[in-house]
Amino acid sequence: MTSVVVKDVSLSFGAYDVLKELNLDVPEGEFLVLLGPSGCGKSTLLNCIAGLLDVSDGQIFIKGKNVTWEEPKDRGIGMVFQSYALYPQMTVEGNLSFGLKTAGMAKDEIARRIARAAEILQIEPLLKRKPAALSGGQRQRVAIGRALVRDVDVFLFDEPLSNLDAKLRSELRVEIKRLHQKLANTMIYVTHDQIEAMTLADRIAVMRGGVIQQLDAPQVIYNRPVNRFVAGFLGSPG
Ligand code: ADP
Ligand code: MG
Repeated sequence: MTSVVVKDVSLSFGAYDVLKELNLDVPEGEFLVLLGPSGCGKSTLLNCIAGLLDVSDGQIFIKGKNVTWEEPKDRGIGMVFQSYALYPQMTVEGNLSFGLKTAGMAKDEIARRIARAAEILQIEPLLKRKPAALSGGQRQRVAIGRALVRDVDVFLFDEPLSNLDAKLRSELRVEIKRLHQKLANTMIYVTHDQIEAMTLADRIAVMRGGVIQQLDAPQVIYNRPVNRFVAGFLGSPG
């Protein structure tokens, strides 16, 4: 069963074509990495899947349903950005519960979901703190927690680790991998970092100039890049 399907999606800003009839099929439970240089359209593609940008042409399906014109909140996706986008005036608990409260969820269900997310992400001791009192890594855990409490089908990550130092980056990388193993849901993860792509991905989609150049398992891309660009970006030196 496919989880996310992107069908012939194009997106232009004025005369500038950012995505060009792009196609992508992500099976249920896959960890797919979108890898490519800055400006190739990774965030734009993710925002189209999330519904934060309208496509110029083409369709997006999630779990078999055409969501091309659905509101972001109705798509069953949770998005984690590079900058954490937490509400600074609220505690961690407040940040985690906010979306659920506005959706009218019962208090005890909210409490149950927060407890579960806090346990999975090991942020129980932080629940009463405000974002300013957290490290970058802790903030990013909370940002992931906000997607987790919503019980979404698909997680979308847009360079979630790029504001962190090298040590935290490798710690959180392991954490995200563990999260995927535990939840077994679909994750689409944008990065321009080759190591992140190689260590996290079930498959890597290498993007350039608004199209996918190669979509394969990391070892296949590394050993058998389809062209010079992919080889230069990720392929084996030999
Ligand atoms: P990436 O995430 O791969 O670095 P983006 O998807 O952010 O790339 O951007 C792809 C291209 O689209 C870039 O050249 C960028 O400058 C351009 N772009 C992104 N957002 C807008 C916008 N709102 N208006 C005009 N151009 C944009
Ligand atoms: Mg980007």
